[in-house]
Amino acid sequence: MANLQQRLPENVPGDFFVDATCIDCDTCSQLAPSIFRDHGDQCSVYHQPQTAAEVKRAMMALVSCPTGSIGATEKHDAHLGIDAFPMHVSDDVYFCGFTSENSFGGWSYLINRSDKGNVLIDSPRFASQLVKRIAGMGGVETMLLTHKDDIAAHEEFHKQFGNSRVMHERDGAARIGIERVIVGEDPFALDDDLLVIPTPGHTRGHVVFLYKHKFLFTGDHLAWSPGRKTLTAFRSVAWYSWPEQIRSMEKLLMYDFEWVLPGHGDMHHDSVENMKQHLERCIAWMKTRN
Ligand code: SF4
Repeated sequence: MANLQQRLPENVPGDFFVDATCIDCDTCSQLAPSIFRDHGDQCSVYHQPQTAAEVKRAMMALVSCPTGSIGATEKHDAHLGIDAFPMHVSDDVYFCGFTSENSFGGWSYLINRSDKGNVLIDSPRFASQLVKRIAGMGGVETMLLTHKDDIAAHEEFHKQFGNSRVMHERDGAARIGIERVIVGEDPFALDDDLLVIPTPGHTRGHVVFLYKHKFLFTGDHLAWSPGRKTLTAFRSVAWYSWPEQIRSMEKLLMYDFEWVLPGHGDMHHDSVENMKQHLERCIAWMKTRN
């Protein structure tokens, strides 16, 4: 619950505000860029919502904030935000919202597959409103974990839905009781439309998941940079090895995808050809950052 006494001075006057507990995960500025902005090392409200659509976006950010740092002085129906999640992205892919502080506000996604069971990629907060809505969509059959930083409430989801979990051994999968432990660096198919591609770099056991040769769930390996208008990686958080991360990025050149859906950073959609060009630019840029 945001605290009005701790309202950041960077907020414009009015109803919605961010307080001093903000951890600068950028979820709000990505979900509602017309209302929230990153003003440095935290986010604040730079434009108060004027329309019903803007109020809804602000409420979506409010329920998705991992630290409860967004508040409003006027009364709003929380269901404006709650009922918007999981939020449709494209085809049968959804963004879960409700990010967790345990994964620093990392984004998670749900594939709503009626034939083979739903897939949850990384972990949202185990919020009862979200869990109920996921249950209504068929629950979770499999949970795919890109790396150890974004596993948040994996145990609670496993207990709730009895789903299996998939994670790489080098990120400590066996230690935390993961059912299907990925070994080595060779890509392999989990089923006919879901591929696991090990991408060490951010962590030793980082992997990305390619769905239908269209959706690439990238964890903290790869994201869109709205500033540079191309794909990017995060040099300052390459905890394991930046040269390894470059090598892992080069491996992705052999795959087709239209969507990049990251844990941190912006998602992006483009043609396969354009994505390939962006990936090449990203790799060239990474090589200048050694
Ligand atoms: S979502 Fe919350 S923690 Fe993340 S940047 Fe916005 S106010 Fe800060």
